[in-house]
Amino acid sequence: MLIVHKYGGTSVGSLERIKSVADRVAKARRDGNSLVVVVSAMSGETNKLIDFAKYFSPNPSKREMDMLLSSGEMVTASLLAIALNEMGVDAVAMSGGQAGIVTDSFHTYARIKSIDTTSIKRELDRDRVVVVAGFQGINRSGEITTLGRGGSDLSAVAIAGAIGADACEIYSDVDGIYTTDPRVEPKAKKMSYISYEEMLELASLGAKVLQNRSVELAKKLNVKIVAKSSFSESEGTIIGEEREDMEAVLVSGIALDKNQARVSLKDVSDRPGIAAEIFTKLAEENINVDMIIQNASSNGLTMLGFTVPESELPKAKEIIENFDHDIGGKSFDSNICKVSIVGVGMKSHSGVAATAFSALARENINIEMISTSEIKVSMVIDQKYAELAVRTLHSVYELDK
Ligand code: ASP
Ligand code: MG
Repeated sequence: MLIVHKYGGTSVGSLERIKSVADRVAKARRDGNSLVVVVSAMSGETNKLIDFAKYFSPNPSKREMDMLLSSGEMVTASLLAIALNEMGVDAVAMSGGQAGIVTDSFHTYARIKSIDTTSIKRELDRDRVVVVAGFQGINRSGEITTLGRGGSDLSAVAIAGAIGADACEIYSDVDGIYTTDPRVEPKAKKMSYISYEEMLELASLGAKVLQNRSVELAKKLNVKIVAKSSFSESEGTIIGEEREDMEAVLVSGIALDKNQARVSLKDVSDRPGIAAEIFTKLAEENINVDMIIQNASSNGLTMLGFTVPESELPKAKEIIENFDHDIGGKSFDSNICKVSIVGVGMKSHSGVAATAFSALARENINIEMISTSEIKVSMVIDQKYAELAVRTLHSVYELDK
């Protein structure tokens, strides 16, 4: 098989770790696979380089930052190839540019435009392991660019798509995706398979495992991802296309987001344009509004509530406080959280949401806001019930079974 391996910062965090990655790659070779290996910088390295730059300038040029940051991945790629060669496994290290990754010119947050796979394929044909420095490419003028933090996952998925790999195995220090955060519910189970859509909705559960942008790209290119640990031999979680047998599972996972705050507006004039005015002002300040609810009006007045990330509440508050017409009362609450149940089975089954509402009601947890999508139901509740709500929902959908 043709496989892409990707090793994150902790997996290549020391020389010993790089050696054990080399052992793993050598084993996959012996098993008869062709391999492209994408690596991150050693853990902490990218942050260290950013600090180095800050020593000289609070606002360093982005082009130079890309020169600097790309070096972290070059170190691990070269060292891994050297280690492999020493073990008798023929390997060649490449920068992103040498591997044919062409990006736009947005330094430090570039997007991959295309991949010219000529060099990778040539080296694979020579039976070599191709080790590619992740997180980087070159623009059309040959300038080095980087892809944004966590971007090595994106390099790996993009390469897997371009060469038509059978799988893209992404190694970190976590052995897969769990039905919920095991720190909140120790009975959380590792999933063996999850669809791209579910993974995107459960982003918080995979935050330490996969960069979300790379899941979006995998979905687009139909690249099968396997999230695995480089510290164990455990099976990992496959992230792939929705399968028919998945519909039997109503809920696949429970996500918790404590970083949410709510804005409640009372006695808002019920006339065309008012919501547009409020949300345009918020959008102009790049505030990410998530859930929005508006009540049916009475006497020409209505209630409007919405959530924003907690870190953006001060900015939202300032905008709303300065809004001097058409709003009667304003209140702000950061002691809330959002609990979401996610599953593709919801598309074809009714009553999934009702089960969640009843389970929370039995625990006397009040649901303050609700929003739904095809495969997700999100509920805003008092933050002090966050863990209880997660455990309650986890058990009512039998995710611990
Ligand atoms: N080294 C880069 C970062 O820390 C890219 C990566 O590890 O994926 O963001
Ligand atoms: Mg990472």
